[in-house]
Amino acid sequence: MPELPEVETIKRELEEKLLNKKIIGVKVNNSKVIKEPAFSEFKKQIIGEKIKKIIRRGKLLVIELKKDKFLVIHLRITGWFKYGKIEEKARVIFELSGGQFLNYMDSRLLGQLSLRKEYKDLDFLKRLGPEIFHLTRKQFGKKLESRKGSIKALIMNQNFIAGVGNIYAQEALFLAKIDPRRTAKSLTAKEKDKLYEKLKAVLTEAIEYKGSSVDSYRNLKGQAGGMEKRLKVYGKRNQPCLICKKPLKKITIAGRGTCFCPNCQT
Ligand SMILES: [Zn+2]
Repeated sequence: MPELPEVETIKRELEEKLLNKKIIGVKVNNSKVIKEPAFSEFKKQIIGEKIKKIIRRGKLLVIELKKDKFLVIHLRITGWFKYGKIEEKARVIFELSGGQFLNYMDSRLLGQLSLRKEYKDLDFLKRLGPEIFHLTRKQFGKKLESRKGSIKALIMNQNFIAGVGNIYAQEALFLAKIDPRRTAKSLTAKEKDKLYEKLKAVLTEAIEYKGSSVDSYRNLKGQAGGMEKRLKVYGKRNQPCLICKKPLKKITIAGRGTCFCPNCQT
């Protein structure tokens, strides 16, 4: 599933390709991905609009067409965009001025596109927590106080902080040398500071390397991201830890597979 770095990469690439282009045609190959309005109305309302701005909130993408018209995109697990010529497997194809096409790809049809008058009123956005980049070290430490449950589940909770999913939660905890099963309130002030630094560092590095392609995520050219090769624990069960060389262990926390080093992460 795309996390903050993957969606930020897509956002930056969409900005580069789409700003000020006009949508001159839309082909919906599978209406399941159009959440609202009904797809015939969706087409009618979007054709002729110019792309003004690309916005990202957590893992959500929003294309501003007008002050009161926004294309809201939940990529969920397998959604991504390919820019250029028409793609046969695309679920929705936007024809743009200048002769190029923006293809919405989604093998499992779990993503959603909606055309709305406003996006800020979406319930899940109202609940969405701040991004780590918008918190100070002190604010992050304060937010962790008195929180129950495992630290890993907490940093993946979008209402606590936005944008961190299963990959970067595991990576940040490894870099901070914190056992993912620990409770948030058991963390010392020093550990909280370290986790804050490592969360920022791993997300920044992943943006720089244009994300990890562990599932369907691709950039606008259809290329995989470069961060996957740099991951240190995600998906590396039984492989030697980069620090101590002992095998990494895989456990399940809050229903999600979690790799960590029981020797280095305490
Ligand atoms: Zn180790």
